This record gives sequence, C-alpha cells and structure tokens, in this order.
Amino acid sequence: MRLVILGGVAAGTKAASRARRLDPELEITVYQEEPEPSISECGLPYLLSGVVGARENLIARTPEKFAEKDIEVLVRHRVESVDVASKTLSVRDLSTGEAFDDTYERLIIATGARAVLPPIPGADLDGVFKLRFLTDTDEIGRYIEERSPGKATIVGGGYIGLEVAENLCALGMKVSLIEGEDRVALAYGPEVSENVEAELEANDVGVYTGEKVAEFTGEGHVRSVRFGDQELDTDLVIVGVGVSPNVELAAEAGMEIGPTGAILVDRNMRTSIPDVWAAGDCVETTNLVSGRTAWVPLGDTANQMGRVAGTNAATGEETLEFPGVLGTGIFKVFDLNVGKTGLSEKEAEEAGFEVVSAGSWAHDRAGYYPGAQRVFLKLIADRATGRLLGAEASGSSTDKLIDICATALWGRLSYPDLVNIDLAYAPPYGPALSPVIQVATILSGKFDRAREGVRATE
Ligand code: FAD
Repeated sequence: MRLVILGGVAAGTKAASRARRLDPELEITVYQEEPEPSISECGLPYLLSGVVGARENLIARTPEKFAEKDIEVLVRHRVESVDVASKTLSVRDLSTGEAFDDTYERLIIATGARAVLPPIPGADLDGVFKLRFLTDTDEIGRYIEERSPGKATIVGGGYIGLEVAENLCALGMKVSLIEGEDRVALAYGPEVSENVEAELEANDVGVYTGEKVAEFTGEGHVRSVRFGDQELDTDLVIVGVGVSPNVELAAEAGMEIGPTGAILVDRNMRTSIPDVWAAGDCVETTNLVSGRTAWVPLGDTANQMGRVAGTNAATGEETLEFPGVLGTGIFKVFDLNVGKTGLSEKEAEEAGFEVVSAGSWAHDRAGYYPGAQRVFLKLIADRATGRLLGAEASGSSTDKLIDICATALWGRLSYPDLVNIDLAYAPPYGPALSPVIQVATILSGKFDRAREGVRATE
C-alpha cells in the first residue's frame, strides 16, 4: 500500500510517523515544498531575536531522520496537481525545475496555510516581509544583518504581530505597531486588549489602532509607512495580518471546500474524495462550544489532526476521530502572558448565546509571598444553563488558569462546578482560592437562580 502526504510540517509529518508506527509495510512519501520538513513555525519570532539560538533548533526531524523510519521526505518538491480518478500526482522538483508524475493509493493533504500579504502599494519593496516559514526568518535575518534597521513597523495586532514586536524590540529596534481595527488582540475581549496595549506602550512600542496602512514608500527598500494622515519612518516592516488555508490544489482536484474556505472533512479527517484525508491548517473543524464550523489554524491542533488522519489512512478504517476544538491559545508579549479558551463574549453572542460574564484581577500566588503578581481572568457563561462558554486571561501567568478552564469546557462544566472545584494550593503557587474559583464566585452572584454548589441547570 502506498501512502502519499502533501505537506511536511506539523500535520503531514505527524500523520507520516503515526502511519509508519501502525504499519511497518506501508510505503510512505511526503512531498514538502519548503527546504526543510518538520519545522516549528511557533518558534520563528524567537529565532529572529536570538532567544532561540540556531535555526536547526526549530527543525524537529530532518529527511535523513525520517529515512531511518523508512519515510521518504522529498523537500523542495511541490505537488502541482492531483488527479483523483487515476490517483496520480504531478510533482515539480524545485531544485531542478523538472516535473514528474507519481501515484498513490491513499493520500493525505496537509498543505497548511499561507501568510496573507495584502495588496498594499509598496508591499513588494525590499524590507517588507511576512513571517510563516524558516525561509522567511532567513530573509529577515539577512536584511537585518545587512541594513541594521533602527525602526521597525509591525502591521497587524494579532498574536504573531505581537510576538514579533517583542522580539524586534529585543534587537534594539524602535517598534511601531499598526492595527486596522480599534484594538489589538481582537480574538479577546476589550479588557485583555487594553492590557496588551498598556504592555506595548510600557515597552516603548508605538501603538496605532483603527488605522489602515495606505502605502509603503521607499526606493528599492522601504523607508516609510503611510496611514491616515500620518507617515512613519521605518527601515523594516513585518506584515502579520492573518493567514489563509492552502486549498487550491484540493479544490482543483474536486475536494469539497467548507464555509470557512478550508477543506471540508468528517470526524475521521476524510475529505469528500475516497481514499483522501486532510489535516492541519488546511482543514476546517467544529468549535465544540458553539457547535459551529470553525477554522482554527494552530500547531497543537494540526498535530492532533495529523495523528487521526495518519491513523485512519494507515488502517483504511474509521479508527480514530477528531472531535473538534475549543479554540484554546496562548501567547506572550514582553512580560504579559495572554491566553484564551472557548468563546469570547462577542463570539458567544454571535453564536446565539445570552451571556453572563465576570472578570477580575487576582494574585498569581499568595499576596504576601515574594514575587506575587497580578493576573486578570474573565469567565463567560451561558445565562440559560450556567455552562461555561469561555475564559480569557492576561497577566503574570495565565497558562494554568486557561488550561483549567479548557478542561472545564471540555467537560461541559457550569460555573458552580468552578466555585467548588478542588485545585492545588500552597502560597508559592497561588492564592488560597484560585483566580478561577474567585471569578466563578463573582459570576455566580450574577445568576439570579444560582446558589453556590448547585448546578444552575438543576
Ligand atoms: P503548515 O505549517 O502550513 O505546513 C504546510 C506545509 O505544506 C508547508 O511547508 C508548505 O510549503 C507545504 N505545502 C503546501 N502546499 C504544498 C504542495 N502543493 N506541495 C508540497 N508541499 C506543499 N500555533 C500554535 O499552536 N501556537 C503558537 O504559539 C504558534 N505560533 C506561531 C508563530 C508563527 C510565527 C507562525 C507562522 C505560526 C504559529 N503557529 C502557532 C501556527 C502553527 O505554526 C501552524 O498551525 C502549524 O504549523 C500548521 O501546521 P500544518 O502542518 O497544518 O501546516
């Protein structure tokens, strides 16, 4: 049996490794357009600043390592078309420019997503970059070395733009960040956005919200960015305005594309074409809180989906299911940690819930314990049932709080469960009552019918 995988980063290589473990006889080939497989894109902002020392550290496994497991990984090979009727692929070797055909019996599409570069005049100037692959950090790194930019501009206030802002500051640049909407970190509520903006300003990042970039100017390389009636001098621009799924190949091959614009798959990660599975940033899934179709391009999700696709492609059966996502995510900007799970208040309302929410600052350890700092936590619940719908946090440490809440969402817990939940406590680790319990208690006060310890649904 021959399994071919298109795309060799998180989803593709996870699928390949899983398929190999399940079936030592399977013939497995991975085609990967980029020069390296299995790269950790999540580490790219930290490679820019040198926090991650060497680019090799971001390559989990080389083609040689895959070959030891009898997985053929062909890098700098782009699959240009798929004929699902004859089960053939047309492939171009980007090193030689030559094209050849290949065949498959089972196929996994793991073509991921690409960074969007909007058609802003001057976006083709030298010094204007996007950030998606190691090759992008190579180019940015070379540019920084050659030109020693003193001023940098980030376009886009999502998590990638924010991470890059921090890392360019670490290189000594004066950084400005321009966001088209009226606040940064739009996936979160306004309280978190305010905290993020305060952190940026405290670190001398110029924040311009509600501003759309009109033009990059310069001769040969970028010299300034124009928006509204302002113009900022800049020597370097990183555009981080979002990503879009790489679906053209799948769509041309006849695979159904879902309402989000990503590939439609079932819970077994099967596409609409027999013997073709898909996984990672190129597919859509279900948001388990809203029940709605969602496209959530994240690395951990891509790995989990890859595991399911690789398993089912190896067995040819419905062995594993991928249930969907909560939309849990986390990032750091300077000393602020920001995380979220489930729906924001706005997302919950858009999904048709009537929402009750509560937010509060708390200490991250006993207030008297040395080093105690503050963290903001907001919980969002369904007024009709008391069920937790989402949580978001920003402050000194948020990962534990968000993961507690993600587990609560996964278990479909309601706020009274969180009022009484038994969590670990000692002064170095938290206040006697976890911020989760504190905010759930505030939330309980907002429910007319609720009594602590009694489910609102009972
Ligand atoms: P991709 O990583 O997009 O890989 C797909 C591969 O397929 C690419 O190498 C592409 O070249 C190749 N390909 C596409 N078409 C073809 C073709 N026709 N033929 C051959 N090869 C093809 N996620 C998190 O969860 N946490 C984080 O902190 C985080 N930080 C991030 C920071 C940055 C700067 C970036 C860019 C991303 C970050 N992500 C993070 C997102 C995460 O990296 C992605 O969700 C993950 O890499 C998706 O993996 P994937 O395998 O689906 O697709």
